[in-house]
Amino acid sequence: MVNLDDGKKRLVENLVRQGIFRSARVRHALLKVPREEFVSKVYKNDAYLDTPLPLEDSGQTISAPHMVAIMLEELDLIRGLNVLEIGAGSGYNAALICELVGPEGSVTSVERVPELVEFASNNLKRAGYSKDVEVVLGDGTLGYPQWSKEEIYDRIIVTAASPRMPKILESQLKRNGILLIPIGGVFSQELIKLRKHPDGRITRMNVCGCVFVPLIGADGYSPI
Ligand code: SAH
Repeated sequence: MVNLDDGKKRLVENLVRQGIFRSARVRHALLKVPREEFVSKVYKNDAYLDTPLPLEDSGQTISAPHMVAIMLEELDLIRGLNVLEIGAGSGYNAALICELVGPEGSVTSVERVPELVEFASNNLKRAGYSKDVEVVLGDGTLGYPQWSKEEIYDRIIVTAASPRMPKILESQLKRNGILLIPIGGVFSQELIKLRKHPDGRITRMNVCGCVFVPLIGADGYSPI
């Protein structure tokens, strides 16, 4: 039997050695949330390998822990923030965000595959996060609520690869907000960090190269 707690500590130590963490808060969140509750049963013993893993038979994956940690550090999450995630997948990243924004904050995660809405919801429930995360079925390229142009969220994180910046998501970001999204081709992307400044001005920077499954929707890739 693999000792999952030891595996979790080893994984986090390796991420520390690689210089992935900038804050103790993200490190603590990774030590707290049980990734084994968010992977498919057959991969339980592999839960603390630093690699993406397939989610049920969906063709989608839970992201590698180092990529999750990089994104959470870039999001600069503090307690009380309202966060929108596009691509709930397993619910793992949503649980980590919950840990970082606390009960004063809110986490909404949109997922387009109905089976994964159920998978993520069940995983979050088992791990004790169901009251703090709302998992909703829909096309996240249109935002949530869909088509709303109101500035609603302090942070938006897209965990699937987009051919371009979905305009509605930019609109739904509040002033002083941060939006993270992988943009590029189907096989590799750049992680883009967009900031909306207090005067509404928008700036973007490239964080790093990355590989995500495609964001499929009205303002993303077309279904194959
Ligand atoms: N954040 C997840 C991993 C996401 S994998 C985790 O922690 O496990 C990317 C997910 O984005 C997949 O589940 C995929 O079905 C979903 N997705 C792709 N296009 C989408 C869209 N337009 N709206 C919502 N979800 C989408």
